[in-house]
Formats: sequence, C-alpha cells, structure tokens
Amino acid sequence: MSRRLRSTVRLAWALSLAACTSSRPELDLVLAGGTVVDGTGAPGQRADVGVRDGRITAIGDLASASARERLDVTGLVVAPGFIDPHTHARERLLTIPTADNLVRQGITTVVDGNDGSSPLPLAPYLDSLAAARPALNVGLFVGHGSIRRAVLGTDNREASAAELARMDSLTGAAMRDGALGLSSGLFYVPGSYAPTSELVALARTARAHGGIYTSHMRNEDDSVRASVDETLRIARESGIAVHISHHKVGGRRNYGRTEQTLAMMEQARAEGLDVTFDQYPYTASHTSISSIVPAWARANDSLAARLRDATLRSRIRREMQAFVEMRFANDPEKLQLSRCGFDSTLAGQTLAAVFRARGVTGTPDAITDLILELVDRGGCGAIFHSFDEGDIERLLRSPLGMIGSDGALSAFGQDSPHPRGYGTYPRVLGRYVRERGVITLEEAIRRMTSAPADRLGFAGRGRVVTGAVADLVVFDPGLVTDRATFEDPHQYPVGIPHVFVAGVAVVRDGAVTGARPGTILRGPGAGRGDR
Ligand SMILES: [Zn+2]
Repeated sequence: MSRRLRSTVRLAWALSLAACTSSRPELDLVLAGGTVVDGTGAPGQRADVGVRDGRITAIGDLASASARERLDVTGLVVAPGFIDPHTHARERLLTIPTADNLVRQGITTVVDGNDGSSPLPLAPYLDSLAAARPALNVGLFVGHGSIRRAVLGTDNREASAAELARMDSLTGAAMRDGALGLSSGLFYVPGSYAPTSELVALARTARAHGGIYTSHMRNEDDSVRASVDETLRIARESGIAVHISHHKVGGRRNYGRTEQTLAMMEQARAEGLDVTFDQYPYTASHTSISSIVPAWARANDSLAARLRDATLRSRIRREMQAFVEMRFANDPEKLQLSRCGFDSTLAGQTLAAVFRARGVTGTPDAITDLILELVDRGGCGAIFHSFDEGDIERLLRSPLGMIGSDGALSAFGQDSPHPRGYGTYPRVLGRYVRERGVITLEEAIRRMTSAPADRLGFAGRGRVVTGAVADLVVFDPGLVTDRATFEDPHQYPVGIPHVFVAGVAVVRDGAVTGARPGTILRGPGAGRGDR
C-alpha cells in the first residue's frame, strides 16, 4: 500500500469511527409490524420489537426510533426462538456448525447429551464446540449410560460401593463442567443394567449442583406405567426435578395409555413432585435396530457368543419376536432403515422392501433373521412406526408437555433420517395448531420457548421481553408447516422467513445466512468448586 493510500484509509477509518460513536442508531434492528407471541402463553399483540447489542431493548411502537435495519414483518408472528430440549446434534455440530435443518425450523437453542449418552468428560467437548462456533446455542446433559460405561463397561450387574462412588464423582465433575443435569437411557445398554437406586444416588448429586434429571425411560410400551413410576420414585427419593423425554407409548395394545401416564404425572405434581415431559409430533420413533435385541443379550459385547448357544439363541429370538409382534404386529413395512454404515443403499428401505428385493416372505422368523443379520453386519439406524395419533394429541393438550424434536442434525441429502429433524416445530404449528386446532398458537409457542427455558435454567431466554437475549423466530402463521416425510425427509419447512440468534440473522428470507452467533449454555453447577 502506498503511503498516500494508507493515510487515506486511516482518515476514512477515523471518520467512520467518529460517525459510529456520535450517531449510532438507537437500535441495531427493528422487526416492524408483526404480532408478538411472547412465549408466556399470553395472547399475541401487535408490536414492533427492537434489538440492540444482541438483546431485546424495546417493544411497542418503534416507528420513530432510529435503527440500523428495519425489517417489515407485517402479517407475521414474532416469537422467541425455539428451545429444543432433546436433540442428537452434537457430533455434526462440529462439522456442520450452521445447523441448517435445525435453524430452518426456528430452533435457536439445542440440548444434547440425552438418553444417557454424552461426551465424558464434558469439558473438552464443550471447548471444541465453542471453537466450532455453532449458529445456535447449545446445552448438554451428562449421560448416566456414559458414566456407567466408563466405570463398569457393559457389565450387567449392580455397581459396588466403590464403583458407585466413582460414578458419583464423574457426575459431580460433569456438573461442574456445565452439564444441565443428568440424563438416562434405561432402555439402552448399559443404562438398562442399572437398578433404580443407582439413578437415585447420581440424581442427588446432579441436584446438589442445581441440575435436573431427564430420562428415556426403561420401557415405553407394555410396562410404561412402571417406568413412569420409576421416574417419579427417582424424583421422590432424590428431590430432583424430573423430565420424561419424548413421551409416547408403543404397540397397538398400549394405545391410549397416555391417559394413565398423564394422570400419574398430575397426581405426582399434586403430591409436590416436579415432573414434566417433552414429545415430538410423529407416530414413529428412531433408534438403533439393535435395540430390538434384548439388552441382557448384548452385555459385554458378547451377542455373537450367546447366539451360538442354542438355548440362549432361542430365548433371544423369542423375545425379539414378542417385541416385533407387540410393536409392529409383525408388519415389516413398519420398520424402515435410516442408515446402515456397511451399505448405503439400504437407507430409506423398509424391511418389507428388503424382503421383496430378496424374494423372501416377511414371516416373523424372517424378520428376526434379518434384524440379527443387520446387527451382525454393523447395525443400522431404524424408524419404528408404532405409535398412536390419539396419544400425540392427548399429550399435546397437557400443560406439562413441551416440544422436543429428538432430531438429528443432517448433512442435506445424506441417509434417510427421521423427518422430525427437519419438521418438528413447523409441524406442530401447521398440523396441530392451524389445521387441527389441538392447542392454541400461544400455548404451542409457550411449549417451545419459555417452558423449556425455565425447565433447563436458561435465564433471560424463551420470552420476548425487554432485556432478554434476542433469540427470535419470525413465521407466517397461515403458511408455516413441515414438508419432510418418511419417504423424502430432506425437505425444509415453509413459512419461516427469519431466525435470529442474539440479534444476528441465521436465517434471512428463508435462507441460511452462514452466521454463527451461538453460545454454549452451561448449567448451574458450572465453575463451582468441589463439594
Ligand atoms: Zn431417546
């Protein structure tokens, strides 16, 4: 650069600096003319929303305020950004920090570490996540299964006193690293090997650091009531607040049981226990296909050896067939592969389609054989179609509920994921609020914003109020809906033009901007000393 050019640049810099300090507009951003649905459940009201330095600083008639940018959102709803208490985004957040399929739904905060599975220790992961600078805010639970695995591997037995003490110290360390609380996956290996007393002990420690307990329960079909009872016992004996993850009941003979589980939760609250739940708006789940193999048979990674033992093999097959009959009525159309690491062509295929391609009849025996074959070849993710629409709507009517996607962060076009990763929030707003009128818009927004914010301890988020962090979503209530389906999941929703994280647009005019203003949200025990 020549000396003359350099001095010109310096002069321009000084002038722009002066302009900034002397005549900075009052606001960075005004969302003008929209209907504010503030997240509390209160009726929507026509108001402008003003943002400065990442926070909401003014709400009302801001026509005369000076603003760096004024966005006309007439006819649209302005709401707090959605807070998703249950996601499986953490690994891909490091490589896809723009989190496209999540922010396009209006999600501005995700929570991971659910289902008993988390990084351990937590701190190195949180550091790498902070370095990856995600588009949205991220909080993490510490997983009981990960803790148990670190101490007992996949041994199917009770922990000794010394082992329990080690698990307890790992729980405390994770809480001090910033975990929001303790999660469990008692349906999974190795969480399923833990007695309730172990969860009570670790929940006490999580509670001592201000955390909550969230659980993918031991059973979500025939024994769902016993599992709700177990969750409530953990609340009662440890004093911790409990939250049931992705509440649902599988298998036709169990349809309608949410009437009983809801009554149990309401009764527990009347008793003084603090219990809530989240749900997603689909009649299918997604998990590993190996979860159909009984957990006891997978202890110590010795499934293959057990299958060579004739007695054990027939017991394993019998239990698998009972599950497949109960959950899917032996219909191989109801099991759909989302991803098999060993063969990418299987993604999206139902077991029925695999049978057709092989010229095999999908008998219960053939289904068991195929599942065991897929597990043996390395396992697959699978979508289980086994829930009732009536249960979804009943749960949606309960004020104890929140919306959580249980969704994955997807590489666009890759694999055949559960559509919930693309569509959960717009589906609730389109299908259940606008089309079916199951709940009001204001109540749905509350379940997506202030309710999870309060549950997870995210102070200053989840409401459109002065002083709150400007995590905001702008959507068209007459248009918003999901488009992702089980057959064609990689489809973004419609009707959500703008999404802001801390006042910065991560979605603008329906397109991901690439901005990455997210923050790591650490739990209440973060940075506290040993106790
Ligand atoms: Zn789960």
